Amino acid sequence: MEILYIDAHCHADDFELNVLENFISRHKMVIIGVGMDYASSLKIIHYAEQLRNFIPCIGIHPWKVGEVSEQELERVLSLADKVDCLGEVGLDTKFVPETIDRQRKFFERFLKAASEYDMLLNVHSAGTWEEVFNLLRKFEIRRAIFHWYTGPLGLLKHIENEGYFITINPSVRFQKKHRRVVEEAPLSILLTESDGPYQYRGIFLNPDLIPDTVREIAQIKNINEKTIREAIIHNSMKLFTSL
Ligand SMILES: [Zn+2]
Repeated sequence: MEILYIDAHCHADDFELNVLENFISRHKMVIIGVGMDYASSLKIIHYAEQLRNFIPCIGIHPWKVGEVSEQELERVLSLADKVDCLGEVGLDTKFVPETIDRQRKFFERFLKAASEYDMLLNVHSAGTWEEVFNLLRKFEIRRAIFHWYTGPLGLLKHIENEGYFITINPSVRFQKKHRRVVEEAPLSILLTESDGPYQYRGIFLNPDLIPDTVREIAQIKNINEKTIREAIIHNSMKLFTSL
């Protein structure tokens, strides 16, 4: 199947298998599924065994770190030989500042594993864009995605220099900060994502919105849609070894 679109960050375990199958075939899409904890990581791996054009990532989301044991962290990592990607992992001082110390401990454990096995990281960095970037460099991570990038515009250059990527979310339709990011970011670091299923400011984020998101990026950058779409697929091929 020719691939036209990519959803590089999707909470796929919250969709039924046949619903995912429909997204993938309807849009000729590849979906990257991310885990929140052990149970959802396991489900993501299970889905990957049954779906084509579906790439699994496993992890513990920073919002979950406060309620998850270190044994669970190790159980998630025991699944690492089945995947090429760790996510959703990272740091968040914007929504869950109270658990930041424990988040750092967990994230370092994921960074160590990713570095050792040369895995891709699908990262959450709300309020911690620079810190996460510096940690990726410190641990010599070769491949990383900053999901739903709304960080400093000045950091984009460094992200480009390191060969890392950012995802653009359907919220780019109305989120001003995110639109500025699309204006500034070079095409060579862009990917698309849904972060779905998620209700956000009146829209239901899900993979069906990816074609619209590509159209929106094309409008903002004043470049034709086909060029944007092909650049994003090209970027995905560089990043995901299995594509
Ligand atoms: Zn997410």
